[in-house]
Amino acid sequence: MRKIVILTGAGISAESGLGTFRDEGGLWARHRIEDVATPEGFARDPALVQGFYNARRMQAAKAAPNAAHHALARLEAEFAGAVVIVTQNVDGLHEAAGSRAVIHMHGTLAGALCADCGHRWDAPPEMSPAHACPACAMPAARPDVVWFGEMPYFMEEIWTHLEEADLFVSIGTSGNVYPAAAFAQHAMRAGADTLELNLEPSVNARDFAQARHGKASEIVPQWVQEILARA
Ligand code: NAD
Ligand code: ZN
Repeated sequence: MRKIVILTGAGISAESGLGTFRDEGGLWARHRIEDVATPEGFARDPALVQGFYNARRMQAAKAAPNAAHHALARLEAEFAGAVVIVTQNVDGLHEAAGSRAVIHMHGTLAGALCADCGHRWDAPPEMSPAHACPACAMPAARPDVVWFGEMPYFMEEIWTHLEEADLFVSIGTSGNVYPAAAFAQHAMRAGADTLELNLEPSVNARDFAQARHGKASEIVPQWVQEILARA
């Protein structure tokens, strides 16, 4: 086995205290997705959306990687072949654990993006709609995250990684959000073995040859241990 491609979702960060979509009482539960995670929502009420992402950025800054993030960093450091993480998460917990080959397909809370000219810069802890773009001076700063209805980042690179994968592993993702939900099928058609590691069977569970269910902090380190022992 030469290449492992890993997709991660909100479930891998749940035990670090960052809520998934469905966590009751969490940040997402207090808002409708249409209001805070779409370009239309941002156009209607930029202050609400900035406030939502400021809260997420603050929460993520206080969070620490858990055993699952650490295990993936260990896998990348010790596995003889290539390990690539494609994450839907906008937190920086993979990097905080030491992973280096991380692709943020849905962007990152650490970034700011000018909705007018496309310029990117480091997000301040608190963004506001009045914040001017350092390149074009328009008050059009937005979080550099991908909203529903927008095209995820780095897709060509990601499809290529999936085609080169000997093993594709999906961790902590519900399988509701496309195109990420199609990665398992894509990798399998190109010849990869496929494994799902999730708390429960995902919506697209039947696209995986194998599955293990449980908490990411337990099943991910176990799986990494087995892969490294085998190699
Ligand atoms: P999701 O909320 O739809 O699904 C999370 C999945 O993780 C569920 O299947 C759940 O059963 C599983 N899960 C929950 N706790 C777990 C645990 N301890 N161990 C293992 N699995 C666990 O999340 P998703 O599939 O990533 O949805 C995609 C969208 O959610 C993305 O657009 C992403 O940007 C956004 N999101 C990101 C974050 C983050 O950056 N931390 C947080 C919430 C939502
Ligand atoms: Zn600009």
